[in-house]
Amino acid sequence: MRTRAPCEYLYLSYFSDLGLAEPITRALTSKGYDEPTPIQRQAIPALMEGRDLLGIAQTGTGKTAAFALPSIHRLVEADKRPQPASCRMLVLSPTRELAAQIADNMRFYAKNTRLQVQCIFGGVPAGKQAKKLVAGTDVLVATPGRLLDLIDQRALTLRDVEIFVLDEADQMMDLGFIKPLTRVAALLPQDRQSLFFSATMPDAIASLGKRFIKNPVKVEVAPQSTTAERVEQYAIHIDQSEKQALLTLSLMKGIESGEIDRTLVFTRTKHGADRVVRHLVAAGINAAAIHGNKTQAQRIRALDGFRDGKVPVLVATDIAARGIDVSGVSHVFNFEIPNVPEQYVHRIGRTARAGADGVAISFVAPDEKPYMRDIERLTKNKPAVLPIPENFVANAAKLPKPSRAPAGAERNPDARGGRGRGGGGRGRSGGGSKQFEDRQQRKSAENRGDGLPRDDMGRKRRFRPKGANGVGAHKGAVKAR
Ligand code: AMP
Repeated sequence: MRTRAPCEYLYLSYFSDLGLAEPITRALTSKGYDEPTPIQRQAIPALMEGRDLLGIAQTGTGKTAAFALPSIHRLVEADKRPQPASCRMLVLSPTRELAAQIADNMRFYAKNTRLQVQCIFGGVPAGKQAKKLVAGTDVLVATPGRLLDLIDQRALTLRDVEIFVLDEADQMMDLGFIKPLTRVAALLPQDRQSLFFSATMPDAIASLGKRFIKNPVKVEVAPQSTTAERVEQYAIHIDQSEKQALLTLSLMKGIESGEIDRTLVFTRTKHGADRVVRHLVAAGINAAAIHGNKTQAQRIRALDGFRDGKVPVLVATDIAARGIDVSGVSHVFNFEIPNVPEQYVHRIGRTARAGADGVAISFVAPDEKPYMRDIERLTKNKPAVLPIPENFVANAAKLPKPSRAPAGAERNPDARGGRGRGGGGRGRSGGGSKQFEDRQQRKSAENRGDGLPRDDMGRKRRFRPKGANGVGAHKGAVKAR
């Protein structure tokens, strides 16, 4: 194969210039892709030549195709058959959702070839997955835990791996996968091509990378401190105890006006996500939670509902939402501010994908201000501050109470399809600031046990000056860059 001059890739503007095998370009054409994204333009030529790669890129940049297309090309060109209980290409992914998404993409790109793509992850019976591996597979996409389980059961060996991809390395580290990864590194053959992707590259990740890659080509598409460019970012300063009412009212207004389409709400904890869903469902907003305590079936149902528009609001923890590719996410709400500033970049990167504009709104409690300052330093951007909406207290007092039942739209068939206004079949809880205060106190008590930032309960609420615009005013507000 011809070696390209160092900057030649910059001039490769079409997939047809890259020299990918015809069945692959045919699949791309059927998907309507003709121009590679910047990471694809940089990575594909080097990967087709068999180089190792260190990629610093977030999801949303086209990085799956950046590694999938040249790998499929090389597997097709080598024209080998997989050995029983083995795979020729191994892709490791931190979460089940991301693994399934990568496998779906790879199946699509390989649809005109004979390559087999299998996907394994925890939370579903291992026996079925072991059966799928008996004859061997060309491509295996896996989460680390289940991969090692199947290796321990002798259902799989890694000795024939020709291409190894470690995706979302920083998330792998956050999830505590360092030991499993070290084990996998020892089981891989020396002679292989390795690709290592991470959205951020702190020292610990870089040294993990050294265990897998040799003399890699380095590609970086968005420097880690750069926040997704097209996202309009806003902050609202509000006490923790008032965030739920603000979220509910903002979503009601935004969904009603059609301004909010598909929304991701981020909470710091799983219980926090469930609690938010309970409140939203009680107010007639169809919402579902996605986090590590949900069963695989619940996660799939929540994601499918979100993708097909039946559930317009998905409440997620960082880990569950990482890498999820859903187009048309119009808004991201940071219900709690992440204490790791890079998480903020990942969160808001869920919107403004594929050329669409997106809006990110952060609810900042007094004790979260230092986290916000860290984020501003990292992103070199200060989100525009929005005032609390007019009549917030009065409107918040009218919101219905959630039931005590477990959260999840799937358990509440009565919840209306996102255009509902309060009530949700349960009726209003009755207005009046007394009930509002009582509710706040109950919430405060709930919060005390879960490690969330405390609110200023019992103290005077600090509202912005009267007459200010509400959250719905963000379209007209100054664009934060
Ligand atoms: P990823 O970063 O791999 O999650 O990809 C983000 C989204 O961009 C996915 O929906 C891909 O299907 C899409 N995508 C990837 N490559 C291209 C391309 N060259 N042209 C248009 N869309 C793409």
